[in-house]
Amino acid sequence: MEFFTDNVSFNHDEITIEDRRRRRAVASRRALEEANAIFDETDSIIEEIDSVYEITADIQFKPKPASKVEVESLSRKVYKKTSSSDMCTICLDEFKTGERVVTLPCGHEFDDRCILEWFATNHVCPLCRFQLPREDQVKRALEFGLGI
Ligand SMILES: [Zn+2]
Ligand SMILES: [Zn+2]
Repeated sequence: MEFFTDNVSFNHDEITIEDRRRRRAVASRRALEEANAIFDETDSIIEEIDSVYEITADIQFKPKPASKVEVESLSRKVYKKTSSSDMCTICLDEFKTGERVVTLPCGHEFDDRCILEWFATNHVCPLCRFQLPREDQVKRALEFGLGI
């Protein structure tokens, strides 16, 4: 009798342990599912952030025409050959005496005609990617009455 009772109580314990294990397994599975849902949500947030970054990068780095007003106001000089031979890195020709050379705010120099052509489709220095205001930015600013 004693043995029987022990056995029953043992079985009972075993069931309880088994039940607890099962419950724990369900709980951990649920927690895992919840965690996965959070991961999925985080993933979609990250994807969203990525796409915003892509759009921003696209706006910032996609070649766009430079502001005509800005290009016109760049400092120009008539080139006079010195002992050092400077060259235009767009056409790879040496600057010629009497020709107009443009100096960008970053300090890089180019033939006037070469850089004009370049800035018709780009807004960054061909050498260092120094950014000039873009034509569309200036236009938008004028539209909003910021008066650049
Ligand atoms: Zn050139
Ligand atoms: Zn430059």
